[in-house]
Amino acid sequence: MAELLFGTGGVPHSAKSPSTTSGIERIAELGLGCMEIEFVRGVKMNEAGAALVAETATRRGIKLSAHAPYYINFNAREPEKVKASQERLLQTARIASLCEAESVVFHTGYYLGDPPEKVYDTVKKYLAETLNQLNRENNQVRVRPEILGKPSEFGTLDEVFSLCTELEGLSLCIDFAHWHARTGKFNSHPEFASILSQIEQRLGRAALDDMHIHVSGISYGAKGEIKHLNLKESDLRYVELLQALRDYQAKGIVICESPNLEEDALLLQATYNNNLPK
Ligand SMILES: [Zn+2]
Repeated sequence: MAELLFGTGGVPHSAKSPSTTSGIERIAELGLGCMEIEFVRGVKMNEAGAALVAETATRRGIKLSAHAPYYINFNAREPEKVKASQERLLQTARIASLCEAESVVFHTGYYLGDPPEKVYDTVKKYLAETLNQLNRENNQVRVRPEILGKPSEFGTLDEVFSLCTELEGLSLCIDFAHWHARTGKFNSHPEFASILSQIEQRLGRAALDDMHIHVSGISYGAKGEIKHLNLKESDLRYVELLQALRDYQAKGIVICESPNLEEDALLLQATYNNNLPK
């Protein structure tokens, strides 16, 4: 992949219809490069639909990823809820693979008051089972736990980096807005650069060449993330973020999750391509 591709989390608002294929067509018309299919309320696409999505994306040269349902908790108390979480991730990966999407992003779960080290071991165990299953099915989709925005959610930088180091077949989804909201920091060029430097040190250059990034404006308080905002209505210093990504020659996909979707995706792309010192 050349450099960074920019796109939206879900179908752009200006698409002709809310269907995934209309979304891909609109992404191409806008001159964006990628789209994340949102299965956040359940996987409701069938195999024929997925084949059509794959065909459309190939024809228009658009890269795809998928976001798994929100109802996943690999640290759930009840075994049946863990099982259902594994199933939801598997189901997303299977349909994503038929869509020829490269990655599946998911929210790992909640601490529920448990010590983080214990949660880490639990998550690692159940996630390993899921990855093994995908491996048996010869599913090539990259599975990516996301950095999450609330202190109640499993998914700090350190936790996700460690999982990616320990489990084969696992990659990173770094949501810079979430991390900023969670910490109240990490909103300047040196801080963004320090994250990229950590990625290189812990996961290797290959991880910087295969980034999956979420960005949006965000509001936050003592309990972390409150809601996503448009970039210009937020405090997120996205120009400095893009500068850091350029400095580290990060490659991969940037998914914009601002409420205005394509407007901010285009702003990010234009800023990255035209308004940064090369
Ligand atoms: Zn997410």
